[in-house]
Amino acid sequence: MDPNIWSTPTAPKLKTFLWRAARGALPVGTQLASRISEADPSCHRCGQPESTEHLLFHCEFARAVWHNAPFSPPITIPHDQQFDLLWKGVKDATCSPSLDLPKDAAWCKDLKRAGLGWTLSSPTASAPRLFSRVSGCIPSPLIAEGMAMRSALSIAAAEDIRNLSVFSDFLILIKAINSGTTISEIYGILKDISCLSKLFESISFKFFPRRFNVTADVLAKNALYSSKFSVE
Ligand SMILES: [Zn+2]
Repeated sequence: MDPNIWSTPTAPKLKTFLWRAARGALPVGTQLASRISEADPSCHRCGQPESTEHLLFHCEFARAVWHNAPFSPPITIPHDQQFDLLWKGVKDATCSPSLDLPKDAAWCKDLKRAGLGWTLSSPTASAPRLFSRVSGCIPSPLIAEGMAMRSALSIAAAEDIRNLSVFSDFLILIKAINSGTTISEIYGILKDISCLSKLFESISFKFFPRRFNVTADVLAKNALYSSKFSVE
């Protein structure tokens, strides 16, 4: 067992939990089934045998949690490793600040105006910082979302943030950035985003459903509606 579990900077109950996981002392399905013949050894989410490693790392649900957490660089969980090795692989991973952008950036078709909003969360801050602005002459929601992403990256880079995880529920934009494909409508914006990305030591762009971006969504809408009589 990794002796560093007791020196991990976390709550005592989590240290105890990790120690029990390392000792195989968690009441997971396979553990219960080895002692109680009627106990169900299978994972309630996927049906595979529920070992400690499966519960915390290998189950598809656990993998999704590790994948979507804002680690920088992102964590990849190897298959078929025991708890000790898996724990060593993740215990020193660092969380990066995360940038959350809403979908559609509150675009007004008639006025060709968009409210842009995003939140910037830091592992060391108690609450996310909120950003919003309004821009005119915006012909489409895609351009509005691209501009919000570009503005947010520009501010994060200017603040000397070195590692960043970016979350958006605008799937078209995330796919284009991650695959390097071009969308003619936002060709210049994608180029700018690519250039800005190089200012970070590590940066990742992830799709996140709208329900997680409620704050940024409200920020964008407020910016748009409060701009009724003035445009930056
Ligand atoms: Zn499972």
